[in-house]
Amino acid sequence: MSDLRFDGRVVVVTGAGAGLGRTYALLFASRGAKVVVNDLGGGRDGDGKSSKAADNVVNEIKTRGGTAVADYNSVVEGEKIIKTAIDNFGRVDVLINNAGILRDKSFMKITDHDWDLIQAVHLKGSFKTTQAAFPVFKKQNYGRIIMTASTSGLYGNFGQANYSAAKMGLVGLANTVAIEGERYNIHCNIIVPTAASRLTQDIMPPDLFEALKPDLIAPVVAYLCHESCLENGAIIESGGGWAGKCQILRANGAILRKNLTEDVSIENVQKLWEQIIDTKNGKCLGSGREVVIALVEVLEKLRNGD
Ligand code: NAD
Repeated sequence: MSDLRFDGRVVVVTGAGAGLGRTYALLFASRGAKVVVNDLGGGRDGDGKSSKAADNVVNEIKTRGGTAVADYNSVVEGEKIIKTAIDNFGRVDVLINNAGILRDKSFMKITDHDWDLIQAVHLKGSFKTTQAAFPVFKKQNYGRIIMTASTSGLYGNFGQANYSAAKMGLVGLANTVAIEGERYNIHCNIIVPTAASRLTQDIMPPDLFEALKPDLIAPVVAYLCHESCLENGAIIESGGGWAGKCQILRANGAILRKNLTEDVSIENVQKLWEQIIDTKNGKCLGSGREVVIALVEVLEKLRNGD
């Protein structure tokens, strides 16, 4: 098997001064990419800033013979990060939206500021940076985008309502960017990582923390961003040396009335509830179009009185 390389490619990794982002930046650079190491260098809760985090990773890359440049902007001003890539390397091929913070509080204790800051860094930051890169990708008919979601978004987690909402928002954002980008060879996929970092050090038991090294996820992200990878719009969960695709399963469901003229009653919903929630023969739909096709089939059955 020949090495998968990124020679000639320019990769932007946001929040690359630590944790997962650092491992992505190091891996891409080791495979020939020129890397923009973006990091605001603030605290885990989003307060403060420093150029040290990004500088350290750039130095690590250069020491190993790679090419990288630091960028200290917040992802909320994503257009500045993409400008750094263009000014230094003349192009952008891959964008990894990875920067993130936490403001964990139980639902009733979340302040407006906690809410706004979490949405700003995760959701708006990914929107701004991706929107700035998109025209460059479109012009060159090539681009690879990663959004970073979380199991807290997919499944929920106590104390993370603000973060869960932002992370699930990124799934929605990626779903549509993937559709709009497809015709220009722009792919957008979602990584759902579980890894040891400063975001998880006080949540995970020490032996689990030790086993979930972030560099075990970097090859999954790198493959998703390689020109040979055809995946688009996928949610890929990964951690501990494992990766798997996630999809939303829809139950076969129940038709709640006998014909097109009959109304739906609450009692019928109650009667058919077990069938409505039975996901045994469920399906994973691939698009909004498939939803409409399935609804047209239901209407057809009602019209024919089946
Ligand atoms: P980390 O704290 O080690 O790294 C995040 C980096 O983002 C930090 O270096 C930080 O300075 C930077 N950053 C924060 N706000 C920024 C901003 N506005 N602009 C630019 N940079 C900024 O955390 P990590 O665990 O490596 O997290 C990386 C991503 O993965 C985050 O989006 C996080 O939510 C997500 N994630 C991590 C896990 C996990 O298990 N570690 C699980 C689910 C999701």
